[in-house]
Amino acid sequence: MGRDRAERLKAAADRLVVVANRLPVTVAKQEQEWTVRPGSGGLVTALAPVLRNRNGLWCGWSGTTEEEEAPLEGLFGEAEKQAGFRLLPVTLSKEEVELFYLGFSNETLWPLFHDLLGRTHFEKTYWESYLKANQRYASTLSGAIDSASPIWVHDYHLIPLGGRLREGGHIGRIGFFLHIPFPTSDLFRRLPWRRQLIEFFLAYDLVGFQTRRDFANFIHCVREMLPDVQIFPGSSHYTILLRGRRILVQHFPISIDFQEFNRLAKFPSTQEAAAIFQDKYPDQKIILGLDRLDYTKGVVPRFRAFQTCLKKYPDLRGKVVLVQVVVPSRIEVPEYQAMKRELEQLLAQINGEFTRPGWVPIHYFFRSLSRLELAAMYRAADIALVTPIRDGMNLVSKEYCASSPDGGVLILSEFAGAAEQLREGAILVNPFDLDGVADAIYGAFHMPMEEQLRRMNHLRNHLRQKNVYEWVNGFLAALQEGQVPAASRSA
Ligand code: UDP
Repeated sequence: MGRDRAERLKAAADRLVVVANRLPVTVAKQEQEWTVRPGSGGLVTALAPVLRNRNGLWCGWSGTTEEEEAPLEGLFGEAEKQAGFRLLPVTLSKEEVELFYLGFSNETLWPLFHDLLGRTHFEKTYWESYLKANQRYASTLSGAIDSASPIWVHDYHLIPLGGRLREGGHIGRIGFFLHIPFPTSDLFRRLPWRRQLIEFFLAYDLVGFQTRRDFANFIHCVREMLPDVQIFPGSSHYTILLRGRRILVQHFPISIDFQEFNRLAKFPSTQEAAAIFQDKYPDQKIILGLDRLDYTKGVVPRFRAFQTCLKKYPDLRGKVVLVQVVVPSRIEVPEYQAMKRELEQLLAQINGEFTRPGWVPIHYFFRSLSRLELAAMYRAADIALVTPIRDGMNLVSKEYCASSPDGGVLILSEFAGAAEQLREGAILVNPFDLDGVADAIYGAFHMPMEEQLRRMNHLRNHLRQKNVYEWVNGFLAALQEGQVPAASRSA
């Protein structure tokens, strides 16, 4: 490495550029005025302090289209001051939103990577737009950052970005983290652009996945599609050697701000709100379902399993209530509207079948919750029923545990990434096995407090350590050092 290059890399090593599909702010037009509101959520909370300390910059789509002509330059000054780091907006055309965002990202990669081949659309125009949009992110970045800065790219919308940045002359380290699952090679091979996509993954210095299973699936695909690469397994990672470059592949399970949820759960205002909520369901145990509107979350099979439970265990009738919150998401997409209709029809059918004076089995909310409502619901729930048919991680399951210092039972799908970490304290279920889920609900209903506390403490102790800050630090340390123990054997 030339001295100049080495010095530039060293000088830039304590900076950080984050690239995600969206900026951590919401841009909206109210009447004739454009406004910017700060975003929330675990990723923003965890990355903000690091970005502040490292003279950071966050690049992402503004959420507006070129055609709307939002005066973005002038809008971000105050938001940047509040955030404490720079915001670099990417503007997409209306067509790119259709083809790249709603198309390739959400109709191709999202269902395919969640094992839902039947819902996957393979469209060449989507793929072409995906490449073009990624080039747009790369061009926006190249003009705005030091080419030696470390970059952390997030999620499936931006897999080609690392390669594009390299082509543009970026010399700093570039890491990628996939927030959703990575499918088995049998599924991945259905993608007409599978080889290009694998090559794009390998343009990064570090590729992070949520679980061991995801990274094992990925390694399997690399072996199949690129038989010439050298792959070296380590204790918790793999190293790939490709054309003289070294790529580290590792799993980094994302997590939550444990202390924040733990503290919030103990606030008097939360406890009061939880008590008021519990009073609405006297003499009933509360089972909580809380999900974004998405077919991967398995709310329809969950309702069916609850119906099975009420049929199989009539003694639970009148003694449990399923409180299901569905947070609106992608509601402009017809497939999501159809899913909402299916869900609501089933809800009406189950409530029609079992409701009796003084008791309605499923209470359904279709809206988002305030922070206090969320904390109160977690605190009030006796059982959390988290049964996605496939999920990269699932933070709701972790937030429930962090918010439950006094017991509670987590029923968790074995197809959520979180199951790899939470298997010892949770009751694991197969969401397609309606009888199995019904039995789990029955078991949770009757679980003695002693056992609840033992399991919950185990889960909470794990999450206290494996929190989102540890996740950020782990990924950045691997990105920075790129150092892995010497490979023990060739695979
Ligand atoms: N959440 C939210 N608004 C709500 C209710 C929940 O933003 O009204 C949050 C919740 O606290 C959690 C996230 O949405 O942090 C959902 O994350 P998860 O990993 O469970 O699923 P995702 O929606 O990312 O697929």
